[in-house]
Amino acid sequence: MLDDDVPAWWRGLGLDGLIDVHVHFLPDQVMNAVWAYFDQASTHYGTAWPITYRTSVEERLKTLALLGVRAFPALVYPHKPEMAAWLNTWARDFADRTPGCVPSGTFYPEPTASAYVREALDLGTRIFKVHLQVGDYDPRDEVLDDVWGQLAEAGTPVVAHCGSGPIPGRHTGPGPIGEVLRRHPRLTVVVAHLGMPEYAEHLELTSYPNVHLDTTMALTPFTEAMMPFPRDLVPRLADLADRIVLGSDFPNIPYSYATQLQVLADLELGDGWLRAVCHDNGARLLGV
Ligand SMILES: [Zn+2]
Repeated sequence: MLDDDVPAWWRGLGLDGLIDVHVHFLPDQVMNAVWAYFDQASTHYGTAWPITYRTSVEERLKTLALLGVRAFPALVYPHKPEMAAWLNTWARDFADRTPGCVPSGTFYPEPTASAYVREALDLGTRIFKVHLQVGDYDPRDEVLDDVWGQLAEAGTPVVAHCGSGPIPGRHTGPGPIGEVLRRHPRLTVVVAHLGMPEYAEHLELTSYPNVHLDTTMALTPFTEAMMPFPRDLVPRLADLADRIVLGSDFPNIPYSYATQLQVLADLELGDGWLRAVCHDNGARLLGV
Protein backbone atom coordinates (compact mmCIF):
# COMPACT_ATOMS: atom_id res chain seq x y z
CA MET A 1 0.00 0.00 0.00
CA LEU A 2 1.22 3.49 -0.85
CA ASP A 3 0.05 6.65 0.90
CA ASP A 4 -1.98 7.50 -2.21
CA ASP A 5 -3.92 4.25 -1.75
CA VAL A 6 -4.89 4.93 1.88
CA PRO A 7 -8.24 6.71 1.31
CA ALA A 8 -9.47 3.91 -0.97
CA TRP A 9 -8.40 1.41 1.71
CA TRP A 10 -10.42 2.97 4.57
CA ARG A 11 -13.36 3.60 2.24
CA GLY A 12 -13.27 -0.12 1.42
CA LEU A 13 -13.66 -0.81 5.13
CA GLY A 14 -16.76 1.41 5.21
CA LEU A 15 -15.01 4.12 7.24
CA ASP A 16 -15.13 7.87 6.74
CA GLY A 17 -11.47 8.25 7.69
CA LEU A 18 -8.87 7.27 10.26
CA ILE A 19 -8.36 8.28 13.89
CA ASP A 20 -4.71 8.29 15.00
CA VAL A 21 -3.99 8.68 18.74
CA HIS A 22 -0.22 8.94 18.37
CA VAL A 23 0.84 11.92 16.24
CA HIS A 24 3.45 14.52 17.18
CA PHE A 25 3.43 18.22 16.54
CA LEU A 26 5.78 20.21 18.75
CA PRO A 27 6.96 23.80 19.00
CA ASP A 28 9.45 24.30 16.14
CA GLN A 29 12.54 24.52 18.33
CA VAL A 30 11.56 21.32 20.16
CA MET A 31 10.78 19.41 16.95
CA ASN A 32 14.11 20.55 15.49
CA ALA A 33 15.88 19.18 18.57
CA VAL A 34 14.02 15.87 18.17
CA TRP A 35 15.01 15.70 14.51
CA ALA A 36 18.65 16.46 15.35
CA TYR A 37 18.51 13.51 17.79
CA PHE A 38 17.15 11.21 15.06
CA ASP A 39 19.96 12.42 12.78
CA GLN A 40 22.28 10.69 15.26
CA ALA A 41 20.06 7.60 15.46
CA SER A 42 22.90 5.26 14.53
CA THR A 43 24.62 6.29 17.76
CA HIS A 44 21.48 6.22 19.91
CA TYR A 45 19.61 3.27 18.46
CA GLY A 46 22.17 1.39 16.42
CA THR A 47 20.21 2.02 13.23
CA ALA A 48 19.62 4.93 10.87
CA TRP A 49 16.24 6.63 11.28
CA PRO A 50 15.55 8.89 8.29
CA ILE A 51 12.33 10.81 9.01
CA THR A 52 9.92 10.44 6.10
CA TYR A 53 7.76 13.49 6.78
CA ARG A 54 10.35 16.10 7.71
CA THR A 55 8.40 18.98 6.21
CA SER A 56 6.78 22.23 7.31
CA VAL A 57 3.84 22.17 9.72
CA GLU A 58 1.51 23.18 6.87
CA GLU A 59 2.80 20.39 4.66
CA ARG A 60 2.44 17.81 7.44
CA LEU A 61 -1.15 18.85 8.12
CA LYS A 62 -1.86 18.58 4.41
CA THR A 63 -0.38 15.06 4.38
CA LEU A 64 -2.64 13.98 7.27
CA ALA A 65 -5.66 15.45 5.50
CA LEU A 66 -4.81 13.62 2.25
CA LEU A 67 -4.42 10.35 4.18
CA GLY A 68 -7.84 10.95 5.73
CA VAL A 69 -6.71 11.22 9.35
CA ARG A 70 -9.79 12.92 10.80
CA ALA A 71 -8.66 13.34 14.40
CA PHE A 72 -5.29 13.29 16.11
CA PRO A 73 -3.51 14.85 19.11
CA ALA A 74 -0.25 16.82 18.90
CA LEU A 75 1.43 14.74 21.62
CA VAL A 76 3.92 16.88 23.53
CA TYR A 77 6.24 15.64 26.28
CA PRO A 78 9.01 17.18 28.39
CA HIS A 79 12.53 15.92 29.05
CA LYS A 80 13.16 18.24 32.01
CA PRO A 81 11.34 20.19 34.75
CA GLU A 82 9.47 23.45 34.15
CA MET A 83 8.64 22.62 30.57
CA ALA A 84 5.32 20.73 30.72
CA ALA A 85 3.04 23.67 31.57
CA TRP A 86 4.42 25.63 28.62
CA LEU A 87 4.00 22.63 26.30
CA ASN A 88 0.41 22.22 27.48
CA THR A 89 -0.41 25.83 26.63
CA TRP A 90 1.24 25.43 23.25
CA ALA A 91 -0.68 22.20 22.52
CA ARG A 92 -4.02 23.80 23.43
CA ASP A 93 -3.31 26.80 21.19
CA PHE A 94 -2.20 24.51 18.36
CA ALA A 95 -5.38 22.42 18.66
CA ASP A 96 -7.48 25.61 18.72
CA ARG A 97 -6.16 26.70 15.34
CA THR A 98 -5.85 23.27 13.72
CA PRO A 99 -8.87 21.38 12.34
CA GLY A 100 -8.87 17.74 13.47
CA CYS A 101 -6.36 18.28 16.27
CA VAL A 102 -7.63 17.56 19.79
CA PRO A 103 -5.99 19.29 22.77
CA SER A 104 -3.31 17.21 24.46
CA GLY A 105 -1.14 17.67 27.52
CA THR A 106 1.69 16.21 29.51
CA PHE A 107 3.33 16.43 32.93
CA TYR A 108 6.59 15.87 34.78
CA PRO A 109 7.21 14.98 38.44
CA GLU A 110 7.37 18.48 39.92
CA PRO A 111 5.41 20.28 42.66
CA THR A 112 3.35 22.29 40.13
CA ALA A 113 2.14 19.22 38.19
CA SER A 114 -1.06 18.75 40.12
CA ALA A 115 -2.19 22.34 39.46
CA TYR A 116 -1.30 22.53 35.77
CA VAL A 117 -2.89 19.15 35.04
CA ARG A 118 -6.06 20.35 36.81
CA GLU A 119 -5.98 23.51 34.69
CA ALA A 120 -5.41 21.50 31.50
CA LEU A 121 -8.37 19.24 32.30
CA ASP A 122 -10.56 22.24 33.08
CA LEU A 123 -9.59 23.80 29.75
CA GLY A 124 -10.66 20.71 27.79
CA THR A 125 -7.45 18.68 27.35
CA ARG A 126 -8.58 15.28 26.06
CA ILE A 127 -5.42 13.16 26.08
CA PHE A 128 -2.04 13.22 27.84
CA LYS A 129 1.34 11.75 26.96
CA VAL A 130 4.17 10.57 29.17
CA HIS A 131 7.52 9.30 27.90
CA LEU A 132 9.33 7.47 30.70
CA GLN A 133 12.57 6.96 28.80
CA VAL A 134 12.94 10.54 27.53
CA GLY A 135 11.58 12.00 30.78
CA ASP A 136 13.75 9.60 32.81
CA TYR A 137 11.42 9.66 35.82
CA ASP A 138 9.61 7.10 37.91
CA PRO A 139 5.84 7.20 37.27
CA ARG A 140 5.39 6.04 40.91
CA ASP A 141 6.94 9.29 42.18
CA GLU A 142 4.59 10.39 44.97
CA VAL A 143 4.37 13.92 43.56
CA LEU A 144 2.44 12.34 40.64
CA ASP A 145 -0.04 10.37 42.70
CA ASP A 146 -2.62 13.15 42.63
CA VAL A 147 -2.08 13.61 38.86
CA TRP A 148 -2.83 9.95 38.14
CA GLY A 149 -5.84 10.23 40.44
CA GLN A 150 -7.16 13.24 38.52
CA LEU A 151 -6.75 11.47 35.18
CA ALA A 152 -8.43 8.31 36.49
CA GLU A 153 -11.35 10.30 37.84
CA ALA A 154 -11.74 12.33 34.64
CA GLY A 155 -11.44 9.21 32.48
CA THR A 156 -8.92 11.08 30.32
CA PRO A 157 -6.53 8.79 28.46
CA VAL A 158 -2.77 9.00 28.88
CA VAL A 159 -0.51 7.61 26.19
CA ALA A 160 2.43 6.09 28.04
CA HIS A 161 5.71 5.29 26.35
CA CYS A 162 6.57 2.81 29.10
CA GLY A 163 8.09 -0.04 27.07
CA SER A 164 11.85 -0.48 26.94
CA GLY A 165 12.08 -0.02 23.15
CA PRO A 166 13.82 1.18 21.15
CA ILE A 167 16.08 1.80 24.15
CA PRO A 168 15.39 1.07 27.83
CA GLY A 169 15.28 3.69 30.55
CA ARG A 170 15.68 3.44 34.30
CA HIS A 171 11.89 3.34 34.77
CA THR A 172 10.64 1.61 31.61
CA GLY A 173 9.11 -1.86 31.47
CA PRO A 174 5.76 -3.13 32.75
CA GLY A 175 6.73 -2.91 36.44
CA PRO A 176 6.55 0.82 37.23
CA ILE A 177 3.44 1.58 35.12
CA GLY A 178 1.88 -1.63 36.43
CA GLU A 179 2.32 -0.30 39.97
CA VAL A 180 0.60 2.96 38.96
CA LEU A 181 -2.31 0.88 37.66
CA ARG A 182 -2.47 -1.10 40.91
CA ARG A 183 -2.94 2.20 42.73
CA HIS A 184 -5.34 3.64 40.11
CA PRO A 185 -7.06 0.64 38.50
CA ARG A 186 -9.60 2.74 36.51
CA LEU A 187 -6.88 4.78 34.79
CA THR A 188 -7.12 4.91 30.99
CA VAL A 189 -3.53 4.11 30.05
CA VAL A 190 -2.76 3.72 26.35
CA VAL A 191 0.48 1.73 26.27
CA ALA A 192 2.42 3.11 23.30
CA HIS A 193 4.06 0.89 20.66
CA LEU A 194 2.14 -2.22 21.84
CA GLY A 195 4.57 -2.09 24.78
CA MET A 196 7.59 -3.08 22.69
CA PRO A 197 9.69 -5.04 23.37
CA GLU A 198 7.81 -6.34 26.47
CA TYR A 199 4.75 -7.09 24.33
CA ALA A 200 3.32 -9.98 26.35
CA GLU A 201 3.75 -8.28 29.73
CA HIS A 202 2.09 -5.06 28.57
CA LEU A 203 -0.77 -6.97 26.92
CA GLU A 204 -1.40 -8.54 30.34
CA LEU A 205 -2.11 -5.07 31.75
CA THR A 206 -5.42 -5.17 29.83
CA SER A 207 -6.77 -7.06 32.84
CA TYR A 208 -7.34 -3.49 34.06
CA PRO A 209 -10.61 -2.36 32.47
CA ASN A 210 -9.39 0.80 30.71
CA VAL A 211 -5.92 -0.16 29.54
CA HIS A 212 -5.41 0.12 25.77
CA LEU A 213 -2.33 -0.33 23.56
CA ASP A 214 -1.51 1.73 20.51
CA THR A 215 0.00 0.19 17.40
CA THR A 216 2.64 2.87 16.93
CA MET A 217 5.55 1.49 14.85
CA ALA A 218 4.79 -2.04 15.99
CA LEU A 219 4.80 -4.84 13.40
CA THR A 220 6.48 -2.71 10.73
CA PRO A 221 9.51 -4.23 9.00
CA PHE A 222 11.67 -1.53 10.62
CA THR A 223 10.60 -2.57 14.14
CA GLU A 224 10.37 -6.29 13.42
CA ALA A 225 14.08 -6.25 12.54
CA MET A 226 14.91 -5.06 16.06
CA MET A 227 12.03 -6.14 18.32
CA PRO A 228 9.86 -8.75 16.60
CA PHE A 229 6.29 -9.18 17.81
CA PRO A 230 5.81 -12.82 18.89
CA ARG A 231 3.43 -14.42 16.41
CA ASP A 232 1.78 -16.48 19.14
CA LEU A 233 0.43 -13.21 20.57
CA VAL A 234 -1.58 -12.37 17.43
CA PRO A 235 -4.71 -14.14 18.80
CA ARG A 236 -4.44 -11.85 21.86
CA LEU A 237 -4.68 -8.86 19.51
CA ALA A 238 -7.80 -10.40 17.98
CA ASP A 239 -9.39 -10.84 21.42
CA LEU A 240 -8.55 -7.24 22.32
CA ALA A 241 -10.36 -5.64 19.35
CA ASP A 242 -11.77 -2.92 21.62
CA ARG A 243 -8.39 -2.14 23.27
CA ILE A 244 -5.96 -1.89 20.36
CA VAL A 245 -5.89 1.54 18.76
CA LEU A 246 -4.17 3.04 15.73
CA GLY A 247 -1.07 5.09 16.45
CA SER A 248 1.62 6.01 13.94
CA ASP A 249 4.28 8.39 15.40
CA PHE A 250 3.75 10.61 12.33
CA PRO A 251 5.84 12.46 11.25
CA ASN A 252 8.87 10.85 12.92
CA ILE A 253 8.80 7.52 11.10
CA PRO A 254 11.46 6.01 8.82
CA TYR A 255 8.87 4.59 6.37
CA SER A 256 5.55 5.64 4.85
CA TYR A 257 2.33 6.11 6.83
CA ALA A 258 0.71 3.40 4.70
CA THR A 259 3.24 0.88 6.04
CA GLN A 260 1.59 0.95 9.48
CA LEU A 261 -1.84 0.28 7.96
CA GLN A 262 -0.50 -2.46 5.70
CA VAL A 263 0.99 -4.42 8.61
CA LEU A 264 -2.32 -4.20 10.50
CA ALA A 265 -4.20 -5.45 7.44
CA ASP A 266 -1.63 -8.24 7.04
CA LEU A 267 -2.60 -9.63 10.47
CA GLU A 268 -5.81 -10.80 8.72
CA LEU A 269 -7.98 -10.26 11.78
CA GLY A 270 -10.95 -9.10 9.72
CA ASP A 271 -12.57 -5.85 8.60
CA GLY A 272 -14.43 -5.45 11.89
CA TRP A 273 -11.14 -5.53 13.78
CA LEU A 274 -9.59 -2.97 11.43
CA ARG A 275 -12.61 -0.65 11.78
CA ALA A 276 -12.37 -0.81 15.57
CA VAL A 277 -8.60 -0.28 15.63
CA CYS A 278 -8.26 2.34 12.91
CA HIS A 279 -11.33 4.37 13.80
CA ASP A 280 -13.81 3.45 16.51
CA ASN A 281 -11.47 2.92 19.47
CA GLY A 282 -9.56 6.12 18.75
CA ALA A 283 -12.80 8.05 18.33
CA ARG A 284 -13.98 6.82 21.73
CA LEU A 285 -10.65 7.67 23.43
CA LEU A 286 -10.41 11.14 21.89
CA GLY A 287 -14.12 11.84 22.36
CA VAL A 288 -14.84 12.63 18.72
ZN1 LIG B 1 5.73 8.94 19.83
